[in-house]
Amino acid sequence: METLHIIGGGMAGSEAAWQAAEAGVPVVLHEMRPHVGTFAHRTGDFAEMVCSNSFRSDDHERNAVGLLHWEMRAAGGLIMQMAEQHRLPAGGALAVDRDAFSGAVTAALRTHPLISFSEQEVTELPSTGHWIVATGPLTSGSLAESIRAATGAESLAFFDAIAPIVYADTIDMDVAWRQSRYDKGETEEEQKAYINCPMNREQYEAFIDALLAAEKTEFHEGETAGYFDGCLPIEVMAERGRETLRHGPMKPVGLTNSHKPEEKAYAVVQLRRDNALGTLYNIVGFQTKMKYGAQTAVFKMIPGLKQASFARLGGIHRNTFINSPTLLDTQMRMKSRPNIRFAGQITGVEGYVESASMGLLAGRMAAAEIKGGTLPPPGIETAMGSLVNHITGGAEAKTFQPMNVNFGLFPPIDAKGGRRGRKDRYKAYTDRAKESFNQWLADHS
Ligand code: FAD
Repeated sequence: METLHIIGGGMAGSEAAWQAAEAGVPVVLHEMRPHVGTFAHRTGDFAEMVCSNSFRSDDHERNAVGLLHWEMRAAGGLIMQMAEQHRLPAGGALAVDRDAFSGAVTAALRTHPLISFSEQEVTELPSTGHWIVATGPLTSGSLAESIRAATGAESLAFFDAIAPIVYADTIDMDVAWRQSRYDKGETEEEQKAYINCPMNREQYEAFIDALLAAEKTEFHEGETAGYFDGCLPIEVMAERGRETLRHGPMKPVGLTNSHKPEEKAYAVVQLRRDNALGTLYNIVGFQTKMKYGAQTAVFKMIPGLKQASFARLGGIHRNTFINSPTLLDTQMRMKSRPNIRFAGQITGVEGYVESASMGLLAGRMAAAEIKGGTLPPPGIETAMGSLVNHITGGAEAKTFQPMNVNFGLFPPIDAKGGRRGRKDRYKAYTDRAKESFNQWLADHS
């Protein structure tokens, strides 16, 4: 049987190696650490957690990441098994003893009879054989260069600049209105592509004060090179002058408030659709280094967003990722070089759990292919299926930025009744997902 080569023994690569080997396919896992390091990793172990020791919420009934845990457990995921073995008390979260956890993942992989290892940096995209690239947010420079040469400069980013993303159904449309600047666009849908939130002068001044006063996070050492070539955080724009934002992402020109056509807004915050389903909207140009708590408080000052729920908050990090919606097919293969799959954070998912789940899927898909079959992705109503759908076509390619799993990626389920209604709706999402995921497992075992 042909061998599967996996580059990167992080969250995704470790899970992919385990899944393929468990399916009976020989694997070579290529990991450059400890010989070549990154600014965040400390050890030579596989699946090292570089920052927090938490896999976030373990609530599989009402939380999307908890549901992803459930699906990975149902699929025999190594990362979840080892996390469970080294679990620490943390309320509803799945926190682990990080060294014991990655030590256990390393031991499981090293003792698997079908997995062998290469401890070298891979510097070029290979042209033959079956490969999965799972080199993560800190992909080494030479490999990143090779990926860039194969995909084009526009298709590989070295930083994410994430604007906060809001659930569309939590925006107050009695305050906000739909309109593209100067009504631009051929169709009515295009002319109403944006959601606009108006501010008067007083509200704008208070917003700028809050931005300037908010707590910010610092860059990690070695992380900043090149960052100012990208997008400026809104608080940095505000520091440059109180009017800067009003002449930048918050400019009010070309927009008329349909609720109050006679009133000219002093500033306007625009939100743009973030997925094909229309369930998520990002706040245009609002990438930020504000701490998460501060972001929620500051963004809820925006008229129309007082009750907003955030699918993800903003951030700017060193992060190597490809424009998956244009580059990958639904089998997570490079369209132009189908012998290569991508998995993990480099595909534009974000976080340990999401990355491991994309490794799980890529490992299974590659193993099925080597054995002469095809494994279709799980349905879009599952957590894993909604994520892979997002990166391989569901997301807007032009504004593609890394994404956590969240219910906004799922086909909507209607439920009424405020906060209580939302909780019931989340349970309906997870019930539907579990049934579909079990069916997918049964159909393809
Ligand atoms: P990784 O886990 O990074 O694994 C990639 C592996 O590939 C690494 O072991 C690397 O050494 C190896 N590699 C790279 N290039 C090559 C090469 N050319 N040849 C061979 N091997 C190579 N996520 C969270 O959920 N919570 C957090 O608190 C959190 N904090 C973070 C803090 C920082 C500073 C960074 C950079 C990321 C953070 N993340 C966090 C994101 C998290 O690290 C990733 O989501 C997750 O580790 C991605 O898994 P991965 O397998 O795609 O990449």
